[in-house]
Amino acid sequence: MPIHEKSLIRPENLKTHESLTLDGVDVSGHWSTFIESRVVTDYNEALEDEIAALPGGEYIHRCWQCGSCTNSCTVNAINPEFNPRYWIYLIRMGMESELLRDKEIIWQCVSCNKCTYACPRDVFPEGVMKATSHWLELKGHTPKSPSMHFDEVFTEQVVRTGKIEESRTIRRFFARTRQALLQDWMIEMVRQLLRHLPVGLLSRMGLATFVAPRTRNWSGAANAIQEYIDKQQDRQKQALGLAELVEAARKDAG
Ligand code: SF4
Ligand code: SF4
Repeated sequence: MPIHEKSLIRPENLKTHESLTLDGVDVSGHWSTFIESRVVTDYNEALEDEIAALPGGEYIHRCWQCGSCTNSCTVNAINPEFNPRYWIYLIRMGMESELLRDKEIIWQCVSCNKCTYACPRDVFPEGVMKATSHWLELKGHTPKSPSMHFDEVFTEQVVRTGKIEESRTIRRFFARTRQALLQDWMIEMVRQLLRHLPVGLLSRMGLATFVAPRTRNWSGAANAIQEYIDKQQDRQKQALGLAELVEAARKDAG
């Protein structure tokens, strides 16, 4: 699967000679540009399986590299370096170190799902982007993203109470991501809510902020959900070899 997109050539791999004459022909500057060949020696042959083991990554093997995901991508329209097709290619080839060069932008997927609708192979590229971001975090290549913090806060609340109480979710999310609670947009939103919502509803919302509402007889369901989450997390840790990574890090430190 060759890569044809010029935007994918790393600037440091483009070489030009300011002054060069070949067989009497002056090919100085732009005319002598060539692409330095890359030698990849550190393949991770398990990379595709690791991504496929995470939620959203299950169908990555179906990709036939048509590029429809990248062509339709909201973020790619602003930043051409954001390229789901290319990352799927790298993952399937096991080119982990190449993938890691883009680790600071992979998380920028806005989950608009335009790629998912455009994909002719039902790869679910939005899910692959999410799985890849999650993989970067689990392997310690990037810190936990705000969206991962939000997912955790949301899940914890559902498991504990069987309900979602928005203000509690937002407060915990802000605390976990070290953001100030009183932000301009938040103050404006509360002002608008106070102006437009009925008093009864506002009172119930205010009460729910102090007394976390719970679904009745929820504990059985909570235990079942928690058991499922624990099993999935164990399966993911095993697929990614996280225990071995921790052991290796311990040995290095010791
Ligand atoms: S879901 Fe993500 S990868 Fe897909 S089109 Fe939207 S921003 Fe791009
Ligand atoms: S649209 Fe689907 S099949 Fe085409 S490159 Fe993207 S993920 Fe692969």
